[in-house]
Amino acid sequence: MIAEVIIDLKNKSVDKPYSYLVPDEFLGVVEVGERCFVEFSNFKRMGFIINLIDEEPSSTIPLKEIDELLDLEPVLSKELIELAKDLSETSYYPFISYLLTMVPATLKVNYSKKLRLLNKEDFRLNILFNMEEEIDYSKIDKRDLPYIKECIKNKDVELVYDFKRKESIKYVRIVKLESIPEKLTDKRKEIVDYLINNNGQVEWLKLRDELNVSLDTINRMENKGIISFMDKETYREIETLKPLKDKKVTFTLEQQNVFNTLKNDLNKHSVYLLKGITGSGKTEIYLNLIEEVIKKGKEAIVLVPEISLTPMMVNRFKSRFGADVAIFHSELSNNTRYDEWRKVLRGEVKIAVGARSAIFAPFKNLGIIIIDEEHEQSYKQDNAPIYHAKDVALRRAKQNDCMLLLGSATPAIESYARARKGVFNLVELNNRANNLGLPKTMVVDLNKEFQTGRRFTISYLLEENIKTRIERGEQSLLLLNRRGYSNYIMCKKCGHVRKCPNCDVSLTYHDYDKTLKCHYCNYTIKLNNICPKCGSENLEKIGYGTEKLEEELNTLFPTARVVRMDNDTTRGKNGHEKVLYDFENNGDILIGTQMIAKGLDFPNVTLVGVINADQSLSIPDFRSKEQTFELLTQVSGRAGRGDKPGLVIVQTYNKDHYAIKYGLKQDYEGFYNEEMKVRKIAKFIPFYNMTVIKVKAPELKDAFTRAKIIKDKLNMSLDNPEVIVMGPIPPTISRVDSLYIFNIIIKYKIVPELDNILKNIFEDEISKGTLISLDRFPTSF
Ligand code: ADP
Ligand code: ZN
Ligand code: ZN
Repeated sequence: MIAEVIIDLKNKSVDKPYSYLVPDEFLGVVEVGERCFVEFSNFKRMGFIINLIDEEPSSTIPLKEIDELLDLEPVLSKELIELAKDLSETSYYPFISYLLTMVPATLKVNYSKKLRLLNKEDFRLNILFNMEEEIDYSKIDKRDLPYIKECIKNKDVELVYDFKRKESIKYVRIVKLESIPEKLTDKRKEIVDYLINNNGQVEWLKLRDELNVSLDTINRMENKGIISFMDKETYREIETLKPLKDKKVTFTLEQQNVFNTLKNDLNKHSVYLLKGITGSGKTEIYLNLIEEVIKKGKEAIVLVPEISLTPMMVNRFKSRFGADVAIFHSELSNNTRYDEWRKVLRGEVKIAVGARSAIFAPFKNLGIIIIDEEHEQSYKQDNAPIYHAKDVALRRAKQNDCMLLLGSATPAIESYARARKGVFNLVELNNRANNLGLPKTMVVDLNKEFQTGRRFTISYLLEENIKTRIERGEQSLLLLNRRGYSNYIMCKKCGHVRKCPNCDVSLTYHDYDKTLKCHYCNYTIKLNNICPKCGSENLEKIGYGTEKLEEELNTLFPTARVVRMDNDTTRGKNGHEKVLYDFENNGDILIGTQMIAKGLDFPNVTLVGVINADQSLSIPDFRSKEQTFELLTQVSGRAGRGDKPGLVIVQTYNKDHYAIKYGLKQDYEGFYNEEMKVRKIAKFIPFYNMTVIKVKAPELKDAFTRAKIIKDKLNMSLDNPEVIVMGPIPPTISRVDSLYIFNIIIKYKIVPELDNILKNIFEDEISKGTLISLDRFPTSF
């Protein structure tokens, strides 16, 4: 039998299956989707078996054998392997990089290069090796490398690739009853009886604590053959702080209609957009649909956007479906993720709830995929290998012949356009479940506010309203719009701002560890209080942070309990959940960034204040208006979710901008129509598709020249008025990780030949060693 293996090397030149012979001892164990170790160009490498061919190898080319199987059950289904292949073929990232994206991080293998000493007589080598037999390659001083190289040639030293497997399975120790002797001491009799009452098996720790058994006692019972020990595989528990309770609701007529429509379509492939205002009961609909899916013996994936809202969402799913739910969010440790993932793989749970990567949950019989807040940018993975969870969801729903349900109060412009054209099915919820209607909104014109000489960022109007909320024992939520914003340090004397030496951005100041960090390459330096340019000590923190807002609130309302939610306060295990729990039970005011705008459901919040609505309008991204509108709508949805009506106060310098105007009215149709006019003129999505080619090089000139050549190639091969090729243009951040970047932007309608042209260009450029990548889901550039 021959196995086709994709090798764990992210290099386009080896991006194809390699054939290995399956040794006889693995027959019957080997399956497609398992990992193995093979020898690849003289080194041991991990690989994924993607195909098995039941034939003898031709005698002309001798095949190497598979060294070792790492799994006894496949870690990837055939569906996911095919999916990885398709994604790789449309994006030009290597096949292996998608295979690795689909499995938990603990299944990746760590490789390290080591040197092994063969000639133990050599004095100089013994010194270099610190008198050890093996040493990490990286520990060798660069100046000694020529000598080492010589020694390798002479076989005095051997270069070995070492690797470490990372997966760790948690076991519990079980005490098992083996035999019952006729005579027993009292203590032993007590233990034996306890075991009998528990079907002969009890967890050791439980037995120890309940009957106060010493290790010595139990060990002696093992020696006598009364009991035996056994290790049983177990999962790590995910803590939830909030008590779980499921509240079942009776659907309103509107909800019932939407539910019926969706339920009737569950048996085949379909794509639905559920456009429902905040608080209209979208989540209730999801929960009930999933119940139907489970009744049919099928499984469900639910994607929710940011980590911050996961605890609350998770709670609703856990309280309805209990142990049937696996959770995937980035706050989980790698080991816990691995446990959750195994529950899915083995069919021990029916539902996976999580952020972007949960779209790869290895279910085998999907009945529905739900993407909540479908407009969210975080569903796109921006790093290599690029993918968009919505695109993956579409592919998986088609493959599994099931429904894809996209839900949002503010659908992405392109999703709504598709729904209006009938590409997606559209269902709508236009009323809030509690029938209170949308909250009232008020605007504060910051231009006027400043003229009155107000020194606080909180306007008079907002201050008054927070005060009445505190008096009534109700809660307020204040949002600081911080997209495209950062804290940085500026010299007051010469105006110098410290920038990253590798990237074209200013460094962000972090108060908690007093460092300056680059958010693109993680370059970090400690802040010293002297300007590197002029030596002045007069440095100033620029940027308006949540901490400063907190100080202001403490001045205005000395007795109020203010809870702050930002990256600093939510660090650590269950960080978000702890902050939210604290606010719900003890807080008067919650202040936070974007992370509080979405998904939170606190019935006692009756006031929402937006401190600076316009911040996100200024970022150079064609979606900035959509995002501003969406933020206002989402955040307004946080007010008045209980039985008390809500009020939203928005502070802005641009009260007449259409994104702000329609956002305040929560008028999606109005915003959509206006925005579509703009997009049509500018030839943006959804009127044109967009794909971006990124070309990188260490030298500015090289990056530009190469990009220009690629653009010319494109223009030469394309003879179609439906395609516009623009560039080379440097992106907003034009240098990252010491590489200069140039973008070529392709806007096109339906151009069937484009894929082939791109394929040719990419193959050619990759073979020349060009650093080139493709982004089919450009968000900002
Ligand atoms: P969305 O996901 O659209 O924001 P949710 O499903 O979270 O809306 O519903 C908002 C709140 O209203 C939740 O607390 C939910 O339990 C409640 N709710 C939804 N539908 C009903 C209903 N028919 N009767 C009573 N409460 C409901
Ligand atoms: Zn950097
Ligand atoms: Zn200076």
